[in-house]
Amino acid sequence: MVGGGIVGLATAWQMLSRRPGIQITVVDAEPAIAGHQTSHNSGVVHAGIYYAPGSLKASLCSRGRGLLKEFCAEHGIPIDHNGKLVVAKSEGELPGLGNLFDRASQNRVPGLRRVDREELRRIEPVADGVAAIHSPDTAVVDFAAVARQLAAEIEKLGGRIRTSWPVSRVRSAADGSIVDGPNGETLRGRITIVCAGLQADRLAAEVAHDVRILPFRGTWYRVTGELADQVRGSIYPVPDPSLPFLGVHVTRRIDGEVWAGPNAFLAFSRHDYRQWAVDARDAVSSLGYTGFWKFAAKNLPTAWTEFSHEVSARAYAKSLKEYVPDVLPGNLERGPMGIRAQAMNHKGQLLDDFLVREADHVLHVLNAPSPAATSSFAIGEYLADTVDRMQA
Ligand SMILES: Cc1cc2nc3c(=O)[nH]c(=O)nc-3n(C[C@H](O)[C@H](O)[C@H](O)COP(=O)(O)OP(=O)(O)OC[C@H]3O[C@@H](n4cnc5c(N)ncnc54)[C@H](O)[C@@H]3O)c2cc1C
Repeated sequence: MVGGGIVGLATAWQMLSRRPGIQITVVDAEPAIAGHQTSHNSGVVHAGIYYAPGSLKASLCSRGRGLLKEFCAEHGIPIDHNGKLVVAKSEGELPGLGNLFDRASQNRVPGLRRVDREELRRIEPVADGVAAIHSPDTAVVDFAAVARQLAAEIEKLGGRIRTSWPVSRVRSAADGSIVDGPNGETLRGRITIVCAGLQADRLAAEVAHDVRILPFRGTWYRVTGELADQVRGSIYPVPDPSLPFLGVHVTRRIDGEVWAGPNAFLAFSRHDYRQWAVDARDAVSSLGYTGFWKFAAKNLPTAWTEFSHEVSARAYAKSLKEYVPDVLPGNLERGPMGIRAQAMNHKGQLLDDFLVREADHVLHVLNAPSPAATSSFAIGEYLADTVDRMQA
């Protein structure tokens, strides 16, 4: 297994739980597991509102959140069902809210209701809008804590975890696969699963000619003052249906902090969390991709808004004010950032659904953006089923 993020770990755990005694080694390039997307996210356990009915995202999010909750209950990992409101700011957003409600109903999101202005203000007194969808089943958790527990369980079941083990190549051989690691070391296995997040396309050169990982940074602001005390759960806008990002939202996290964000803007490094870090190889990979320029040409106004959110708490507060009217720039303190691994094709389309591709004896997870953390236990089951089929 390449990649010790929540997807790789949940998959290894599912396989070991299904077939005790099989030999599994999880390798990760970093000195500790879960160092990237798994520990740099909003921590929202999504209820499945947004995803196209019938897609992998819809089915695996629905199954995954149940499995995640069971695992957390069994291991004493706190989850808070503090709920979520998706707020229509104006009459013009009501059709979009209605479409979202229909989609969520097809996805059988539990407890979902449409609420009017009065009720939305009762649920979240700091929010305002003309109507909203309320999802009481949306929760928050620390996905990095889940990943650490998974790693402990994997080791209890006899699996191995090797950190500081960067993989340079994964090859198919006649009777299995070969993983090239540091200092000339190799690992051999019957099947290798690659869950490398931001590096997924690079390790999948054989099967991913048509896919490029574009790193999208997302910066949060910490909400401070009395406003933060009044936020109860998550407050989201109606998202732009042409983009997989959910818009600027406010979330009370499992540690009690309230964060606003994340925005979405191209990152020039896939793994460096300093604000304007540039990695020459990563920057060339994005800016040299024709798909990126096609995407950029279609999304210039959005890119400008996202950039202004990146550099200015005032601009951020102005956007947030549309549905959290009392927010002031002084309530927003610059917080951390995450970097999303988002697959794009050469036409400049962001791939919406999860994507897994098979090569001989190798399975590549090529697109596992949000809600992949929520869905990770079900993605693990799905991959374990695929491995069973490959070995049959
Ligand atoms: C800003 C942001 C907000 C998000 N919010 C949410 C949310 O609220 N809810 C939700 O469900 N999801 C959310 N997500 C998405 C979620 O975090 C990811 O979908 C999920 O963590 C993906 O897990 P992963 O294991 O695939 O990737 P990662 O956690 O990135 O793990 C990949 C691992 O592979 C390792 N690796 C990479 N290359 C190599 C190599 N060559 N050799 C060895 N190891 C390698 C890396 O070191 C890393 O540990 C968010 C993501 C971001 C960035």
